[in-house]
Amino acid sequence: MEFPYAEPYRIKMIESIHRSTFEERGKWITDAKYNLFNLRSEQVYIDLLTDSGTGAMSDKQWSELMLGDESYAGASSYYKMKNAIKEIFGFDYFLPTHQGRAAENVLFSALIKEGDIIPGNSHFDTTKGHIEFRKATAIDCTINEAFDTTIEHPFKGNIDLEKLEKVFKTYPKEKIPVLIITITCNTSGGQPVSMQNLKDVYSLSKKYGIRVYFDSARFAENAYFIKTREKEYYNKTIREIVQEMYSYSDGMTMSSKKDAIVNMGGFIGFREEDLFKKASVYNIMFEGFITYGGMSGRDMNALAQGLYEATEFDYLESRVSQVAYLGKKLNEANVPIQKPYGGHAIFIDAKRFLPHIPKEEFQAQTLAVEFYLEGGIRTVEIGAIMADRDPITRENRYPALELVRLAIPRRTYTNSHMDYVATTIINVFEKRNEIKKGLTLVKEAPILRHFTVELQRKEN
Ligand SMILES: *Cc1c(COP(=O)(O)O)cnc(C)c1O
Repeated sequence: MEFPYAEPYRIKMIESIHRSTFEERGKWITDAKYNLFNLRSEQVYIDLLTDSGTGAMSDKQWSELMLGDESYAGASSYYKMKNAIKEIFGFDYFLPTHQGRAAENVLFSALIKEGDIIPGNSHFDTTKGHIEFRKATAIDCTINEAFDTTIEHPFKGNIDLEKLEKVFKTYPKEKIPVLIITITCNTSGGQPVSMQNLKDVYSLSKKYGIRVYFDSARFAENAYFIKTREKEYYNKTIREIVQEMYSYSDGMTMSSKKDAIVNMGGFIGFREEDLFKKASVYNIMFEGFITYGGMSGRDMNALAQGLYEATEFDYLESRVSQVAYLGKKLNEANVPIQKPYGGHAIFIDAKRFLPHIPKEEFQAQTLAVEFYLEGGIRTVEIGAIMADRDPITRENRYPALELVRLAIPRRTYTNSHMDYVATTIINVFEKRNEIKKGLTLVKEAPILRHFTVELQRKEN
């Protein structure tokens, strides 16, 4: 008999979580103005809001905390992180930052100016926010297959080379300071980019003299998909794959809260010394001195250790299998989800789940509220609310996909939790026709509005 999947670790410490009643949740979500970010964590049973900073550190990472060097300059912890980055990604220069968006802020301050064009594959929300804040424009060049959740394509994060070349031909290279490839691509559903695509994008970009950076939060999951889906890489180790991936880039931004399995942290990796020096000035202004950049020494230690653990095949296999375990349960119940299953999350297609609710009533957010009411699980909308208004016309933007993301924290929940989550979703799916109305906006911020938005149930 074939062995079933089982985790390559056991549990050494536990944290209690609390169930609640339907009535309690009804009151809490009304008080939270139908925004799940406003809930207190005690009001949530299983928290799938994000896989960011919510993972469980290993015993080795906890031991590294004790070895942290808190010197202001030149701490050994800085060098531990520097060595890990050089060994795993191959970059000679790096800057620590307190998280991923801080890396974007520092890098973009050195690179992007008003009127610039930043092509990529469905930029992450904070990335897009930092681009638009500088009055530059993000252009999405993701392949069309990514926007149809029913198509099975192994690399839905890929960039369409024709779309990209069109951007390169339309704008002078002075207007395109960087191209950003997000691996894996969160916005299209945790979907990977193939090695072939990374290579092709890099060579096309070099032909036009354009710099390539990877937004790397889930680089290790991307490498796992390359290993398991791109046959030339089947016999390569994850570390070998990661090294080749980054040979097709000029640098990286990293949210270490994802694939470095720490609760807080980030960095920028650079190949060019000049750009590193230019960005260092902003790092000192916004983050801290260049050898700590907003991180404690102990956190840099845990981060370095996390990078090694995240690039082990056994860890990645258990990680991605758990996500697929949940995906399979939903798929078998015919719940419409993005396929293939993502690396860190399952994405529910809200347009197909609630076709009778108009997009102006925010189908995905409506569904996320229903999931909370049903089972106390917290998920997140990746749809029209997150897409913000157009910065010029101020009209609502309605993206091709309205998704609810079930992000699975790393090494945190068991498959029994996944069973509970699947039941919650399937229960809502079975009574979807009883959901008659969606939500409308009451208050919103001008940018990145999903974090603080206030909503109400649509009136008759
Ligand atoms: C999380 C994330 C970021 C931003 O990082 P933070 O650590 O949340 O600031 C940027 N890009 C991608 C792809 C991410 O997943």
